[in-house]
Amino acid sequence: PTAFVSGATGYIAQHIVALLLSKDYQVVGSVRSEEKGQHFAKLFNSSHFSYVVVPDIAIPGAFDEAFKAHPAISTVFHVASPFHLSSENVEQNLLKPLIEGTKNILSAIKSFGTNVRRVVLTSSAAAVEATPGYDYADKLVNEDSWTELTYEQALKNGIDGYSGSKVFAEKAAWEFANSEHKPHFDMAVVNPVFVFGPQAFESEAKENLNSSVGHIDAYLKLKPTDPYPTFEGKFTDVRDVAKAHIVAAESAEAANQRLVLCNGGFVPQKLANIIREHFPKLRETIPVGTPENENAPLQNPFAGKLDNSKTNKILGFEQISLEQSVVDTVSQILKSRE
Ligand code: NDP
Repeated sequence: PTAFVSGATGYIAQHIVALLLSKDYQVVGSVRSEEKGQHFAKLFNSSHFSYVVVPDIAIPGAFDEAFKAHPAISTVFHVASPFHLSSENVEQNLLKPLIEGTKNILSAIKSFGTNVRRVVLTSSAAAVEATPGYDYADKLVNEDSWTELTYEQALKNGIDGYSGSKVFAEKAAWEFANSEHKPHFDMAVVNPVFVFGPQAFESEAKENLNSSVGHIDAYLKLKPTDPYPTFEGKFTDVRDVAKAHIVAAESAEAANQRLVLCNGGFVPQKLANIIREHFPKLRETIPVGTPENENAPLQNPFAGKLDNSKTNKILGFEQISLEQSVVDTVSQILKSRE
């Protein structure tokens, strides 16, 4: 089979591409520049990998040439999207690329991807449980939950802008997939919570880590008198996220489903405890804090109890623990900087 992966150079997408190659897929990845394409083609090191340059997914027709040139594509993974929480020009930097990018790839598939049977969209838990101002404590969140916010609210800051971009892009995709002009493919969506875990290639773990792993890296940069980063939430491992994308593509049961990936929650003390326990040298720089508080309840918007048993049943594999994920992440970063 032939798969298309948008944003193939991203943190999650690299793992998806590597897994597809190991399963004997032909993979066409979209990258933003020739230079990045060549760099990653070397890393993937497979005659089954090729790339197309799509500098900006938000430009109308961005994906048309890619699908015209590769009519054999049968599965599409739309992973590319700006992932940051910066409040600068939210509409231009977050909402537009996500919403327009999603519409662009779906219309390219509709017009030129005649052999496509399944589209897997990488959405986020930000489209599931991030309603601004809502008190999730004691509430149950599941695969049917949606973050509720208006376009105007999404324009206010980077956090709501990112959530809004995922909500509106995912909704636009469902609308397209279920439209009366029924396309020739069906869709499955993957909604991960915060993703930790090693980069697919150690050489990429040195600096400029992607946003979610950057939060782990922040502990490695602490000085003994620094407070912990305030970042907390729910967690899943990147290798499981990649595996879930393959299930979303291959399983009949996954059609028309949202797969909400989560394997537990974390507060800063929990991350500090894990790192201090496994990396004795870092005890010199990461403060001890109050170790017994590692299971403190999560604050909004992560305070909801997540029931993703439907997802776990479809996935059917054991998922990597927070401890393992953090240890593998930190080991790789330290090794790459030796
Ligand atoms: P990365 O930032 O590593 O990957 C994003 C990819 O999208 C990069 O390849 C980037 O290219 C590309 N991209 C961004 N903007 C554009 C654009 N305008 N045109 C073309 N390509 C673009 O992030 P992740 O791998 O972490 O995220 C991948 C997906 O997973 C995203 O959809 C994100 O929303 C979702 N997700 C991530 C979570 C996490 O914790 N990491 C949690 C939940 C969902 P370049 O780097 O060259 O700019």
